[in-house]
Order: sequence, then structure tokens, then C-alpha cells
Amino acid sequence: MKKHTKGKVVSVNESLVGAVITEGAVMNGEVAYIIIEDGTRLKSEVIDVKSGEIVYLQVFEDTSWMKVGDTVEFTGLPLAAKLGPGILGTVTDGLQNPLYDLAEIEWFLERGLEVEPLDNTQTWHFTPTVSKGDVVTGGSVLGFVPEKIFKHKIFVPFTIQGKHTVESIVGEGQYTIDEDIAVIKDAVGQALTLQMAFDWPVKKPMPFHERSVPDETMPTGIRILDALFPIAFGGTACNPGPFGAGKTVLQHSLARYSQADVVIIAACGERAGEAVEVFKDFPELIDPRTGNSLMDRTFIVGNTSSMPVAAREASVYIATTAGEYFRKQGLNVLILADSTSRWAQALRETSGRKEEIPGPEAFPMYISTLISAFYDRAGVEILADGQMGSLSIIGTVSPAGGNFDEPVTQATLLSTGAFWGLSRALSDARKYPAIDRIDSNSQYPSLLTEDEVAYLLELLRDGKTIASNIILMGEKGITDESYIRYQKAELVDAVFLQQNSFHEVDGFTSPERLRLMFEVLRKIINAPISIKGKEEIRSHFNFLRQAFIDWNSMREEDEDFEKQKSKILHLVKQGEYAKENV
Ligand code: ADP
Ligand code: MG
Repeated sequence: MKKHTKGKVVSVNESLVGAVITEGAVMNGEVAYIIIEDGTRLKSEVIDVKSGEIVYLQVFEDTSWMKVGDTVEFTGLPLAAKLGPGILGTVTDGLQNPLYDLAEIEWFLERGLEVEPLDNTQTWHFTPTVSKGDVVTGGSVLGFVPEKIFKHKIFVPFTIQGKHTVESIVGEGQYTIDEDIAVIKDAVGQALTLQMAFDWPVKKPMPFHERSVPDETMPTGIRILDALFPIAFGGTACNPGPFGAGKTVLQHSLARYSQADVVIIAACGERAGEAVEVFKDFPELIDPRTGNSLMDRTFIVGNTSSMPVAAREASVYIATTAGEYFRKQGLNVLILADSTSRWAQALRETSGRKEEIPGPEAFPMYISTLISAFYDRAGVEILADGQMGSLSIIGTVSPAGGNFDEPVTQATLLSTGAFWGLSRALSDARKYPAIDRIDSNSQYPSLLTEDEVAYLLELLRDGKTIASNIILMGEKGITDESYIRYQKAELVDAVFLQQNSFHEVDGFTSPERLRLMFEVLRKIINAPISIKGKEEIRSHFNFLRQAFIDWNSMREEDEDFEKQKSKILHLVKQGEYAKENV
């Protein structure tokens, strides 16, 4: 650490502080502490170095009582995340300060207080996999420790360049993350002492060992996604929607049910306190796959809208860096960022204070570059040992007035592979998840075949067209045949696309069950219904829909499960042979 770069505050504009350098030189992106009168040290980051005179700092904490003339100490180090055993199961703020007790979360730590990001008192059972004399480099595995859901690889820090030789390595045993576990030497004999945890600068993407295309569906348990608008392991999705349309509920379902090994939540709250509400129940929730607490595979970076704006930006980067680290572990990681609009607003505020030339809707010109760089950190990685890891990112966007033409939605749309647009009309009709059936899309493979997806989408489009004809001409104005097609589309929507997130069975659909449901739906859609008259047709489909909805709430192992399926198929047959029954 350099010790001699110092400065003095010359201007304070909320979280943007100007300073002059009195000693040494300053680098963009480095962390600095501003020392206010009572001795409190406020963490900040250099965001602008203006021709060597004034530097701008964005302060991560409340700047009350800061004065012109206060001392600034520059660290020479970039904003970094601490990576190692102990991340899983924790909740931190945007600067990786742990917030211990979820039930009594204090979203504001005392100002100026910094807590160790990872518990340095806990010991981990380390087993070395290298020996004295082995050649290693940044990213080489030194050994592993068991942690909750997986075998945590202990790496040579990724920041280390070039070949090194292992000089010494500790034996199998219990160690804390701060204890020295190895000494390595570079080509000229310079020694480095390593611990189990190390820092990585959050704004710098961790280089991929080898990048691969995201082409395998990540099942989410949410039918409309898995069937029509899927996300892949390593893929990205944009989820815009007006206030109250179901973004947070959807993220909550994704956190619980997605087939990811690790879920990281970057919660930039919509409303103050909302992030707290959403995650309060997490420690009590059971991971449906392991039977253990959901927190065992979760890392939450929480901010609320009442925290200083700069902390929101930092939280997105901390989450992403942790995600990349777990990908390097060979895990499938999912980042849920809710809401990226709050992050963008933070950037807009800072940019405004810096008096930069604004782009559309006063967002800074570089907003789309930052958004695309964020989503570009997602992806599939083939690791040095041939294993695969992936990082998927799903970001919600909350455009003012639900207008998707605004800059943040548009930039996100261009950077992501799936688009799940939430519709006010659907949420008002309580057709949840309110993901637009026609205007959403995905470039990733579905759990259904391409033909099957096209078959369902065609039915839904027909249904929409016929629905508008009915509004125009009344039911009498359309043929029975069209009316049957319309009823089939409505049925698919009601029993397959709609899903009650809060129902313990309906809330999650496995890939096998999705397939079974689709096969039954296909029988319904293909059945040549011979019923005549709108009233009779409607009544037939009402029975069928109710039977299917009842089926949706039964577990596969329930004894009535097969019976209910037979009942549905029997109703379909009745519709086909209605003529003979008359
Ligand atoms: P947003 O985050 O977009 O503002 P929320 O996710 O908070 O909206 O959703 C608002 C309300 O809509 C929820 O409190 C819930 O009552 C209802 N809702 C949303 N999605 C679902 C769903 N899949 N199943 C049942 N209810 C839902
Ligand atoms: Mg929300």
C-alpha cells in the first residue's frame, strides 16, 4: 500500500466530493478515505482525475459534516471484493460489509465502520493438492475446503502473473482465511505468502480461461420461461415491467427454483425497506433440491433506495465479482439484479453532479456501454481442468410509467439474450406471471423442441387475433371453429402459462412435469372438437380448464395424480365424440 498520497477536500456536493492532491499522485478507480472532523473515515472511490488538479471522489457513505479542508488519504488500491470460503450464506451491503442478523437488519451500519467481509475467526478444513516444487500460476488450485454445498477450491490469486514454484504448503488441517497456507516463488526468487482468501478489483472482469456459447437451458421451474422464453446456463435476460407487475415475485421464484448451484442477489431496492421484506424469509426457506436452507447457496448484496447512491453501484459490482469467482469454481451461478434502473439512476445522479453532458432522459452518454459491459460478464467458461462453470444474469428494469422505450430498457435489451416484458394488462387481469406472451422472446433453447415452441406461439397468436375479432363482432360474428381455437389458446394460457408462485406445488414445475403437461396439452389442442354452439363449447372448456387446474395442484406422487390426468383425457374424448352423444 502506498502511504504518501494525500489530499484536501475542496467541494462537497452530496456524494460527489472534489479534492486537490497535496502529496503524491492519484489513479482513477482507487479507494480513498475522507477523514472528517471527529476522526470518522468515510470510504470513497476516485471517479475522475481532471488534468492533475482536482480529482472527484464518489463517497459510499453519508457526507453530512464533511467540510472543505478535510483530509483525504488515498490507498492506491482499487475497490475490491474479498473472495474465499465464507461468502455463501451471508448478506452484505454494497461494500461487502456483512449484515449479520437478517431478522434485525440494520441497513445502515454506523458511518465509517468497516467490517471484515468474510468471517476470519471461523476455521475451514483445508486439504492441499500441491506439493513443494510444483509449478503454479494465478488461478492454479492449491487445495480445497468443504463448504456447505460444494468443495471450495483454494486458488493462487488470479492477480498473480507468471510461473511460480511452490516453496512450502501447509498440511491438511483447520485454518482461518487469514492464516498463511503457502509460500510461492517467482522466476527471480521473489517469495509470496498466500492465504485462502484474496482480493479482486470489482470493476475488472475476471478473464475467461476459455469462453463457450450458452446453449443449454437452465430450468427455472417457471413454465412460461422454460417452455417459451428460456434462459440458458451462462445466459442473460432483461425483465422490464411497470411497478407492481411482478418483477420481484418473479426474482424470488427464480432464486428458489432455478437449477443454479449458487444464487447471488443484488438488491437495489425499489422502495426503502423492500429489499428487507423480500429476503427476511430466506433463511427459513428450504432449498427444494437439497432440503437445506436456501441461504446455503445464496449470497445477498442488499441496498435500499435510502442508501447513498454510490453504494448501489458498488453492490452490482460486488455481486458480479463473486459470481465470476464461483464460476471459476466450476459452478452454475445466477445473479439476480433488482432493479438495474436504480443503479442507472445512481449513475445519472453522479453524472449530473459532475455536470457531464447528458444523453437521453439525462442518463450519462456512457450508460449503454456500462450496461453492456455488465451483462458481458455473464457466460459459460471452460476451466483449466476442462470443467465448466457458468454465470447467468437476470436484471429487472423498472422504467418510469412502464415505457420500454427509455434508455435503460433499450440498452439492456441490446445486451441480453432473453426479453421478458411484464405487461400491465396481464397483471391487472391477475394473469401471473404477467410476462407478455407475444412480445417476449429468447435466443436460448427451450425445454420443448423448436417446432413445439412455434406450435404453441402460433396458437397464442391465433387466440389473440380471434379475441380481438370477438371484441369487434361479438361471439356471434365468428365461427364455432374459430371459437374452439380461441378457447384452446385461453386454456393454454390459464393452465400452462399462468402459475401461482405462492402455491407449493404449482409454484415450481420440473422439466419432466413440463413435458408431461405439454403432451396432455397437445392432445387437447389437436382434438377435433365436434361440439356445436358457443355456450356448449365454452362450458366444455370450462370443465377441462378446471380439471387441469386441479391437476396442477397435485403432486406427482399423489395417488390422484394419474386419475386426474385420465379425467382430463376423458373430457377431451367427450369433446371429440359429442355428436354421437347427442
Ligand atoms: P414489482 O416488483 O414489479 O413492483 P411485485 O413483484 O412486488 O411487483 O408484485 C406485485 C404483486 O403482484 C405481488 O405482491 C403479488 O400479489 C402479485 N404477483 C406477482 N407475481 C405473482 C405470481 N407469479 N403469482 C401470484 N401473484 C403474483
Ligand atoms: Mg419490485
